[in-house]
Amino acid sequence: MTAKILDGSATAKQIRAKLAEDVAKIKAERGITPRLSVILVGDDPASVTYTRMKKKACEAAGMISDLIYMPADCTQQQVKDTILQLNADPAVHGIMVQHPVPSHLDELDILSTVAVEKDVDGISALSLGKLVLGTADYTSCTPQGIVTLLETYGIPIKGAEAVVVGRSIILGKPAALALLERHATVTICHSRTQNLADVVRRADILVAAIGKPELIKGDWIKEGAVVVDAGYNKVEGREKDVGDVEFEAASGRASWITPVPGGVGPMTIAMLLSHTLKAAEKYG
Ligand code: NAP
Repeated sequence: MTAKILDGSATAKQIRAKLAEDVAKIKAERGITPRLSVILVGDDPASVTYTRMKKKACEAAGMISDLIYMPADCTQQQVKDTILQLNADPAVHGIMVQHPVPSHLDELDILSTVAVEKDVDGISALSLGKLVLGTADYTSCTPQGIVTLLETYGIPIKGAEAVVVGRSIILGKPAALALLERHATVTICHSRTQNLADVVRRADILVAAIGKPELIKGDWIKEGAVVVDAGYNKVEGREKDVGDVEFEAASGRASWITPVPGGVGPMTIAMLLSHTLKAAEKYG
């Protein structure tokens, strides 16, 4: 079997084109311009790139985006005060804090300062609790991007055996919950999982969210499985970034697979924009 591509770039492009139309509509009909404020603490080069990409994407869709830079040595209270000001600003519809924050800061406490109705990344304690209850306004953007991509391609989730490798708060756990919400039978794996290969072999839908280049071997993939690779890894000596799954070998067994890059990444940004528009529509 040769896997077909779950094309995140093309899907995200379509979503963003529709978003631009909806943004124009809310501006014309209600005089609201959806606005996202992104806080970046420190100057981690990857985070600088990601936040600039988010700003550019917002502006291309006709939204306003503020990029708020805070020095790496700022205090917990300074970050929280910035968030509290944005919470109180009616012109701001979405707030996100770029992950990760410097290690002297308590990230969970910071994320949970974001007002739930503006938490377009869906990772405050309240948003995550609501996700468990099935009542969240916004699921974290990367997991939401993953399920949206599967749904766009008509991949059946209900009843499927889904295996998520990785249990981070921004990715693995909410991805598992999003799949569970859609009635998959979900197994979550992590660094202490025994016999990872055997668990992965059961997956009709595999979500790799690890951050270790090609940890998942091609021959672990069940024939006909759907493989979603959220990993994004730089490998010295290799020109292209690689995912967490051996792409070529897995493509020989899977029915569908996401490329890296061009799979999950572009979907994440499209979901952030979509959630910001939703926040403006609902609470603006
Ligand atoms: P993270 O917080 O470091 O979490 C990694 C997870 O992988 C942890 O739960 C860890 O288990 C698990 N893990 C590590 N080694 C393992 C092993 N040998 N076997 C099984 N599980 C193992 O990373 P993250 O923030 O979730 O990101 C994961 C990857 O996704 C990274 O490559 C990141 O760049 C990428 N990412 C992509 C996007 C996007 O938009 N495309 C967005 C976010 C992240 P423990 O919990 O036991 O430590």
